[in-house]
Amino acid sequence: MILSKYSLGVGDRFSREGEAQLRALKRAEEAGVLIIPVWNKSNREHDIIGTKPAHTRREADEAVKALEWPHAYHVDADHINRGNVRKFLNHCDFFTIDVAEFIESELVGISEEEIEIFALSCGSFVGEMILDGLESPLVLTAEGIHESAKRYYPAVKEASAIYRIIEKEKGRDNFITEISLDETERPQSPADLLIILAALAREAIPAQTIAPRFSGHFKKGVDYEGNAEQFAREFEADLAVIAFAVSEFRLLNNLKLSIHSGSDKFVLYPLINRALKKFDAGLHLKTAGTTWLEEIIALAESEGEGYDMVRDIYLESLERYEELASLYGDVKIDWALLPTPEEVEQWEGSRFARALRHDQSCSDYNLHMRQMMHISYKLAAERGERFRSLLESNRDRAGKYVEENLYERHIRKIFPHS
Ligand SMILES: [Zn+2]
Repeated sequence: MILSKYSLGVGDRFSREGEAQLRALKRAEEAGVLIIPVWNKSNREHDIIGTKPAHTRREADEAVKALEWPHAYHVDADHINRGNVRKFLNHCDFFTIDVAEFIESELVGISEEEIEIFALSCGSFVGEMILDGLESPLVLTAEGIHESAKRYYPAVKEASAIYRIIEKEKGRDNFITEISLDETERPQSPADLLIILAALAREAIPAQTIAPRFSGHFKKGVDYEGNAEQFAREFEADLAVIAFAVSEFRLLNNLKLSIHSGSDKFVLYPLINRALKKFDAGLHLKTAGTTWLEEIIALAESEGEGYDMVRDIYLESLERYEELASLYGDVKIDWALLPTPEEVEQWEGSRFARALRHDQSCSDYNLHMRQMMHISYKLAAERGERFRSLLESNRDRAGKYVEENLYERHIRKIFPHS
């Protein structure tokens, strides 16, 4: 099973928007670019919402059937580990093996000697490497390689153990493997990536996508924070490293980068688009919460009952912030810039919607409130059937926003159209 050059992770918290998401991809196809949908949902999301991997599979199958999508599609066991992989095995054909926790970990039980042997096997990369498409050489030192090996080889070893569990159950050619290292503080440099790819090859893990921790901040649902030009240089270097590693280590030749928390990073999209063209590279862009935010924008705009509930969720999120934020790492909310309960009590739903909608040219847009609502889907899940039936009665508006958001703000900007 081979993943297409371009793919889009379309998370959907409440499993209602599969068709709307697929309509966005149909529009992309009409505009000349084939992007394969991957419905991703992590164990964390399933636990919070009370869904199971079978639900995501059903949603994907039904959307594909309803819209007569003739191409491939996948269901991603997102951010799985050794402890929870088994419940995804029957329902998924894409596995995001998350081993960020095992960076430099002693738990994997790998010896100093083994790390040393691996680092020495990368000795030929010491010095300046000229890579196709890069203006400046990649510089590696023996110490740097040793350091990368010490940090990342244990994580790759753990990935290997998890990969074998999946392979044994599903058969080698029946699923797609992604390795994710993004949920960690320290970014991985292009030189680190080279060593990680060498380790993947050594462990014979046929990864098709890899999600590194890029530099800068990829906060949930809001734009990138960091030096965009520096990001672009690193991203291009990562693409060059992957192209080199594919031939050097005989990795799968469709291996590509996966960008996690990839929605809403608008400042980066033109730079990524340019780099993909330059290197003729593929991309997996993982999104999830941006769809839930479109749903609540639609509910807010319905005024009435839908807005009452969305406003209640916001007010409750202020009370339960600690609990909600503990579920997600990269959230940074400036409380002084959040609207107060008293202010929000005065707002119409349309005003609430403008605060949330990711339109940076609108003076009512509030990125702090957007992050707050991003992490508050648990409060909607707690409202159970009442929330679901409001979503159902606002289905057309929500679906329209989900489709437009994915196509206009994301797909059209980041994926090269022919
Ligand atoms: Zn991730």
